[in-house]
Amino acid sequence: MKRLCRAPSLALAQIWCDVLNRARIEVTVQRIYQQGVAGDIPLDQVGPELWLMDESQLVHAQELLAVLRNPPQRRWFCDCGEEIEGGFEQCWNCGAMRLAP
Ligand SMILES: [Zn+2]
Repeated sequence: MKRLCRAPSLALAQIWCDVLNRARIEVTVQRIYQQGVAGDIPLDQVGPELWLMDESQLVHAQELLAVLRNPPQRRWFCDCGEEIEGGFEQCWNCGAMRLAP
């Protein structure tokens, strides 16, 4: 296992984890504060981390993370007619994934 990055929140870590898993990159969310004694580690060392299972996927994982951290601002229209704004790759109306541009 290799440490990939730290996420600002557990919710975001879970989203990143889901996206990477869907891309067939196996990552897990680790909560590092569970491994230390509370109050014993500085605050900026506390938080969820993403860990990569297969280090051969590191470059691919980092590329995806870079996109996730800086989602392009754009809009697109789903086949169901819903207009999606922001960096979302999935229609919130019908759940369809965005097709390649
Ligand atoms: Zn849709």
